Amino acid sequence: MIENLSESSNDSNATSSLETNWSVVINDATAEKLNDYICNSIPKSSAYQTNHELYCRFCLDLSRHKMKQQLRQCNQPQCPVKFNVLLCEKKDIGSIAQKLEHNHFLSDYYNNYNGLPEKVKTVIKNLINTNPKLIPRQIRTYLNNNSDKLGIDDLPFNFDQVVTFFYRYKDSLAPKKNKIEDVERYLGDHLYFATIEPNTPFFFGFSTDGRPQPAPIIGNGSANNPVRIYATTLKLLQLNCNSDNQDLTLFHIDGTYKITIENYPLLVFGRSSPNRTLYPIAFGIISKEEKEDFIHFYESIKLLCRHFNINLRICFLMQDAQSACATAAMQCFPNVVILMCWFHLKQCIKRNTVEYVYKKHGYKKYSGIRNDTG
Ligand SMILES: [Zn+2]
Ligand SMILES: [Zn+2]
Repeated sequence: MIENLSESSNDSNATSSLETNWSVVINDATAEKLNDYICNSIPKSSAYQTNHELYCRFCLDLSRHKMKQQLRQCNQPQCPVKFNVLLCEKKDIGSIAQKLEHNHFLSDYYNNYNGLPEKVKTVIKNLINTNPKLIPRQIRTYLNNNSDKLGIDDLPFNFDQVVTFFYRYKDSLAPKKNKIEDVERYLGDHLYFATIEPNTPFFFGFSTDGRPQPAPIIGNGSANNPVRIYATTLKLLQLNCNSDNQDLTLFHIDGTYKITIENYPLLVFGRSSPNRTLYPIAFGIISKEEKEDFIHFYESIKLLCRHFNINLRICFLMQDAQSACATAAMQCFPNVVILMCWFHLKQCIKRNTVEYVYKKHGYKKYSGIRNDTG
């Protein structure tokens, strides 16, 4: 589930070749300078390997931290040039090295921007700052009606780019404070109560202080004090967990990452119908993914079902190859058959063979396999 690209192979790949035939073309530059270089100083190129994390070589302090690596290739057909872009985000310092020479005409200046033009970004930022309640559609109307005045009438961009930038910028403005008391208060205001409307989400799975107006107690995320927050609605449980015709029902569990600020995985538990629609049943945020965490998740759902007189029986469960999750399911649902998802199987083959092929046989075979495995 978690990207696990082997550090050493990755490292040797970049460093050994750096020593032989990579030459540094820009050094000690900020992320912005690196981006300018890629957009203005070299022919259009595209990243073919990205977000590889290596230990930082720019910082001389002893705190071992990761830097980002991106490998790019010149887009001109048959041109052998590659670029190795390194960036330490901690100190905003990076470099670009080039391998081999271009075999085509080179110009002094390029315009390789394919994102939203800076000028349009500035206009949108100003709009959001002065009118925080604007929605993307209103921004589009404003841009369209004032393109002459704003001097953006000949810039290429589309509405999707405006929407993406709009939300990214809004996100960056949101305060990143993440106080546990605020979370507990929020959960406390959204607990189950006897007259709750069936479509209203409520939270469960954590302990409370046991008072008549219970206050949730959330762990600090350490090994002995994990964070476990689950959510569902009465309607979702009643519709999807009842044992009528459940012999043929396929249940699913998977986790998704990089959604929460703390990088805790978001678990999704659901069932699918024969026409391949997935119906979510419960969501969970957990701070670690060991057997006991999955057991806790499943047992909390079972407990709820018992409480609401819903007869949950799971015969088939689809998941990725995570053994902690499978062991937990077998313990909580005796006789369950664990199935492995085709997508995850392909993903696993890809992850474990592609790196190897790339190193042994080069880029062409590598991209072939990458395409075959989707
Ligand atoms: Zn660094
Ligand atoms: Zn080239």
